[in-house]
Amino acid sequence: MSSKVLMIILDGIADRPIDNKTPLLVAKTPNLDSLAMRGINGIMDPISPGIRAGSDVGHLALLGYDPYKYYTGRGPIEAAGTGINIKEGDIAFRANFATVEEKDGSFFEKKVIDRRAGRFSQTDELVEAVMDELSLDTEFILKRGSGHRAALILRGEDLSDKISDVDPKKEGKPPKKAIPLVSEEAAINTARLVNKFSEGSHDILRKHSLNKALYEKGRLPANALLLRGPGKVPRIESFKEKYGLSLGVVTGTSLIKGIGKMLGGIVIDVEGATGSPDTNIEGKIKAALDAIKRFDVVILHIKAFDELAHDGDFQGKVRFIEKVDKALTPILSLNNCCIVVTADHSTPISVRNHSGDPVPVTLVDENVRRDRIDSFDEFSAPSGGLCRIRGLDLMPIIMDLIGVAEKYGA
Ligand code: ZN
Ligand code: ZN
Repeated sequence: MSSKVLMIILDGIADRPIDNKTPLLVAKTPNLDSLAMRGINGIMDPISPGIRAGSDVGHLALLGYDPYKYYTGRGPIEAAGTGINIKEGDIAFRANFATVEEKDGSFFEKKVIDRRAGRFSQTDELVEAVMDELSLDTEFILKRGSGHRAALILRGEDLSDKISDVDPKKEGKPPKKAIPLVSEEAAINTARLVNKFSEGSHDILRKHSLNKALYEKGRLPANALLLRGPGKVPRIESFKEKYGLSLGVVTGTSLIKGIGKMLGGIVIDVEGATGSPDTNIEGKIKAALDAIKRFDVVILHIKAFDELAHDGDFQGKVRFIEKVDKALTPILSLNNCCIVVTADHSTPISVRNHSGDPVPVTLVDENVRRDRIDSFDEFSAPSGGLCRIRGLDLMPIIMDLIGVAEKYGA
């Protein structure tokens, strides 16, 4: 019986037909087809029929975590992704280093010049300065993310995520004062803290020698932190606690790294893994094969199908599917491992966004009842033996196949 699980999540690979063809139907995919042939196949609604899933909620569901219970916004996921050790009850925010006007006066009256501070990324010293010099009436942790990104958590009593964003999400407008969205003491208090953080961090950042140097060189100073996407960290069982299995995650995408870390998994960094079509796909597959020796369950997330579909690039999606298929060759000789191939949602070229269409799912394991499907695509999958399942069904099916599911009843 398999003791290991490799879950390959092909982000947004499923599509709607254009002239009766989807990129998966057009692309030559001998390896994916061979897995379909060896396995049991079906279609899966990542959340439920017709629900257009984001990648975050899609992944949560595929890992057996009901997003309606555990998803409280992007903040907690991004914060976990930066390496902040988030705790239940923390209020987590996404943050951008940004440039606002260099002038005296209130932070909330200075126009945002660049929401990404010219994509300035050497932010370590700036984060350190804010952590050292700012005092708030509650504990906080600011940590940098990739590029100009960062995350903030507020920790303490009397906090709420029911407040508005500071980030105006547009250049040429000033940051917006956070306001409570409900008339509760905790929300009023949190809005006040967020405004204090925004003003206080701006004062520290604009005086920082690094920003002065940038300004003198005619570059955009990273003189502000724009907060958005607050979410309260939920009580969430780690993957290990929930299943008794260790989790390794191979991905080039910060959002999925955040999901992995939020569930107590180990994120395996791969050089050149970008989440774009130029990603180091061979490196990721090698890392996943290596990780399967150390972890019980390994997620291999491949992103660029989604990106190309958002761009409406049919041929690009076809080419990337073929590139990934070719790189999957070493996976085919994996033994004693349950292999799952699926997607977190559909991203049709014609929609240029996620849709609620179900995705194909293939399960390869010595214990599955093989069906007659011999192609991995949206049209073949529904005739397979797995029929139609939901994202939350996937982990219980896998747990049963690998013989670690607990019996229900006597
Ligand atoms: Zn996705
Ligand atoms: Zn997408």
